[in-house]
Amino acid sequence: MNHVLFADAALTPEGTLGPYWLRIVAGRIVEAGHGRPPQAPDEHITDAVVAPGFVDVHAHGGGAAAFTDGAVSGERALVAHRRRGTTTMLASLVSAPVSVLLDQAEELRPLVKSGELAGVHLEGPWLSQEHRGAHEAEVLTSPTPEAVSTLLEHSAHDLIRYVTLAPEREGATEAITRLRAAGFTLGVGHTGASCGQTREAIAAGATAATHLFNAMGGLHHREPGPALALLEEPTAFLELISDGVHLDAEMVRFVWDYATRNGGPQRPVLVSDAMPGAAAPDGRYRLGPVEVDVVEGVARRVTPDGTLGAIAGSTLTLSAAVRESILSAGIDPARALMAASTNPAAMIGIDDAGRLLPGGRADLVLLDPAWNVSRVMHRGQWIDDAEG
Ligand SMILES: [Zn+2]
Repeated sequence: MNHVLFADAALTPEGTLGPYWLRIVAGRIVEAGHGRPPQAPDEHITDAVVAPGFVDVHAHGGGAAAFTDGAVSGERALVAHRRRGTTTMLASLVSAPVSVLLDQAEELRPLVKSGELAGVHLEGPWLSQEHRGAHEAEVLTSPTPEAVSTLLEHSAHDLIRYVTLAPEREGATEAITRLRAAGFTLGVGHTGASCGQTREAIAAGATAATHLFNAMGGLHHREPGPALALLEEPTAFLELISDGVHLDAEMVRFVWDYATRNGGPQRPVLVSDAMPGAAAPDGRYRLGPVEVDVVEGVARRVTPDGTLGAIAGSTLTLSAAVRESILSAGIDPARALMAASTNPAAMIGIDDAGRLLPGGRADLVLLDPAWNVSRVMHRGQWIDDAEG
């Protein structure tokens, strides 16, 4: 197949919306350029904005399936998100002993090998007890040099790409230094670290905030915590769960505005933090060892006495996060689309997704005037039953 697609409005590699064309051969973009294509296009898109397929670096599942349950389940989650526009994903695993996480990651290796999954994200077990959110208290621990060695021996960063940890944990700085040297992306999250401890983690090689503000100390006037250090670091990527539940739209707008002026528009990273109930009906789901009830789209831990449990992931997809950011938080559409594609790809160091450039995968989303995903192209093929 040699297919030339021309869009009146596409997200360009420079992060603006404008006329742009692509030549697609065998699932890849082989040529691209601004303005009109050099020949008559095979497809001319006039009524939708074209953007790179979305890249989600923090998701636990979707379509009633969890990444903790192996490759078949993982595939189901990937398909559910893909139909809504997310064409590149990391599989996030909730806290468990390192040996268990390595087994779970190993189960997903076929999906990484085939290129369907971009890699694995370990959210824990080196997290704060106090800020654990829905993670199991008993499995949380500090990163001993032995545990870090085990991780490094079993997984090059091509399987596990991203690790979230709390800087105040004993051994955290050393762990960050070693994992960064091996090519991992390190995120600060589920943490009660001080501003100083967080700066130390950044100096050691942490480059991201795992769901900024959620499950971490906020901006307190007498206790400037991790959020301040992460906001102030001009190179730090900032994961945001922009669903109107985890973060107020005003806070999304403030973070975006501040980060863009202090560092640039490449900093905000929209994530879903999706659990299996995303792209699926309300009901009871499992997230590793944790039971979660989804009621009216909000996921909470099941408690023995029936009281409201901690928020346990979201039922968000990146398509909904983009729409929410544009329509509720007032984010410039091109910037919101960057935060769902270009920025997360840069955060985890992948260069064949997130930008409409030659050499990249031919993964595209079309967005209608209300910013709903109306069509998805995966590896050069339109998925015709795409939903917003
Ligand atoms: Zn989390």
